[in-house]
Amino acid sequence: MISRKRSTTLSAGLLTALCLAASTHGAPAAAASYPVNRAALTRSPLYTSGRLPTADCPEKPVTPGSVSSARRYVLPLLDCLGEAWKAQLAKARIRFSKPGVQFITRPGRVCGHKWPKNAQGLYCPSQRRIVIMLDKHLTEQAEDLFLLDVIAHEYGHHVQNLAGIEAAFNSLTYRGKPEYYEQYRRLELQAECLAGAFVGSIWNSLDRTSDDWDYLLEATRESGDERAKVRDHGKGRNIANWLSRGFKAAGPGACNTWAAGAAMVASTPA
Ligand SMILES: [Zn+2]
Repeated sequence: MISRKRSTTLSAGLLTALCLAASTHGAPAAAASYPVNRAALTRSPLYTSGRLPTADCPEKPVTPGSVSSARRYVLPLLDCLGEAWKAQLAKARIRFSKPGVQFITRPGRVCGHKWPKNAQGLYCPSQRRIVIMLDKHLTEQAEDLFLLDVIAHEYGHHVQNLAGIEAAFNSLTYRGKPEYYEQYRRLELQAECLAGAFVGSIWNSLDRTSDDWDYLLEATRESGDERAKVRDHGKGRNIANWLSRGFKAAGPGACNTWAAGAAMVASTPA
C-alpha cells in the first residue's frame, strides 16, 4: 500500500512550476479584446462534453526517493489519462492522440529549451510530449497526491493542445505584459482544472481520504505566484480553486477559465 506519511514541508515551487514549454504566443498589438474573445477558447466543445467517464485507476505504491517506483506509479496513470481523455474528446468530436512521455532526473535542455527553474513537469506542444522531472523533490513526496497532480496537469496541456486551445492561445494578441500574463494564467489554470477533473473521475478507485485531497488543496493554496518571480500561474488560492472546481465537476465543463472574471485568474499584487 501507499504510505500516507506526509512531508512536513512542500518544496517551494513544486506546484507553481507545472509548465508549458515553447510558447509562440503572439506579439503585442493594439487590437486585443479584453479579456478574451475567441470561440476556440471560450466556447470549446470540451465544455459541453459532460463528465469524464468514471474509471478504476488505483495508484501503485511508491517508495519515497525511488525513481524506478515513481515510474511504475506514473505509467499506468498515463494509460488511465489516455483512456479518459480519449473517450471525452470523442464526445466533443476532437481527434485524440497519445502524448510522448519522457522522464528526466536532473535539469537540462528539453524540447530545445532550458528546463525551467523548480519545474516538476513540462509539456512540449510542438512535439506533443510530456516531460516529468522525477527528482528527489517529487519522488520523496510521491506518497501524497503531488505526483498525480503533476501528471494530470501536464496531460491537461496535451488536451488543450489537441482541442486547439493551445493554438488559439498562441494567436491571441495582448497589450503589454500584464495582459499577456493574464492570458497565460488562464491557460495554466485551465490545465490545473482539467487535472482536478481527471482526479475526480478516478477518485473512488483511489485508496485515499478527503484529508489527502484537502492536503493537496492546502499545499496548492500556499504555492502559486506568491513564490515565483513570473506571475504566470496565478495566486495559490486561485490555483487551488480551479483544481477544486474541476475535481467537484469531474469534467471539463467547470474549466472555462477563458470566460472567467479577472479575480478568478488573478495573480498576486505587484
Ligand atoms: Zn502548466
